[in-house]
Amino acid sequence: MLNLFGLTLSQLQELCLEQGFPKFTARQLCDWLYAKGVSEIDAMTNLSLKVRARLKEISVVNRPTPVNCQVSKDGTKKYLFPYQLDNSNQQINDAAVHYFETVFIPEEDRATLCVSCQVGCKMGCRFCATGAQGFHGSLSAGEILNQIFSIPEFSKLTNIVYMGMGEPMDNYDAVMQSIAVLTSDWGLGWSPHRITVSSVGVIPMVKRFLDESECHLAISLHNPVPTERVAIMPMQRAYPISELVSLLRRYDWSHQRRLTFEYTMIRGVNDDEAHAVKLVQLLKGLNCRVNLIRYHDSATAPNFKASQPLTIQRFQSFLNKQGITCTLRTSRGEDIMAACGLLAKVKGRDA
Ligand code: SF4
Repeated sequence: MLNLFGLTLSQLQELCLEQGFPKFTARQLCDWLYAKGVSEIDAMTNLSLKVRARLKEISVVNRPTPVNCQVSKDGTKKYLFPYQLDNSNQQINDAAVHYFETVFIPEEDRATLCVSCQVGCKMGCRFCATGAQGFHGSLSAGEILNQIFSIPEFSKLTNIVYMGMGEPMDNYDAVMQSIAVLTSDWGLGWSPHRITVSSVGVIPMVKRFLDESECHLAISLHNPVPTERVAIMPMQRAYPISELVSLLRRYDWSHQRRLTFEYTMIRGVNDDEAHAVKLVQLLKGLNCRVNLIRYHDSATAPNFKASQPLTIQRFQSFLNKQGITCTLRTSRGEDIMAACGLLAKVKGRDA
């Protein structure tokens, strides 16, 4: 059955045309689905009974609520959703029931939601618990948006980051469709500058993203030395970081759009002075910031450990002195496995 939730105005217009519904029905549907957030076709009271009856024959509004919520001592909440295969998700490689996670991060002046775009991930970054669980499917736009619409904090959200499970550029169409709903006047009407999309650097898709969207971009860098980066991020082989940075230099980052490089500090792997020097050489002159992340120990990567606090401090101050804005991201929700790189949930395993 077709899921109406997550469809764009033009997709709904096409549907209405096919079904012979009045032209304005598509806008009315957007209003019910996104502005009013209803999940029952019967509640769409300005549609005629005939239109509603036909919609119920051919479609649903699939808005499942999370099946679990864990609350961290720091106020971070991790919501769990079952992967329901509500549409044409086809890339399933096993029959097990899987779950995906969404993390709500409240701060003094903002409330951020970190959404997943896939169940598992194909990218195989060696330090990441999501990468270790393999790939089980890509989420539809509706499933991505439902993570936002179905949590009790929905109305408080100020920012969305596509930094949960999966690689957004590997599920490009669904990610962009969800962003269209968030940012269009027929959807939520958010500014694209409230949205950040992350990537390991799938170059052709990053280029499309930069050409087709105004959202912020966060690149998972983690090591500036190609021969070392490839050992922890296999995607480096296909999409070298130097080529990615060359592409990024062709865009204007001086205005509203922000470019961030994420750098997880792993003891003895990427955290010495030589790495800091190489990082500066790689990014010199590019209008960007580097966001250091303390590595979170994970059972799936027992050989990796967090860098010492003093090492992180030195690394950060070296970059700042060299003119590269460098911040240290506060770890949130580590006690409920909601922190960066820890999202991985399969049935029967209590993360
Ligand atoms: Fe995938 Fe991101 Fe984990 Fe890499 S770090 S395996 S891209 S979820």
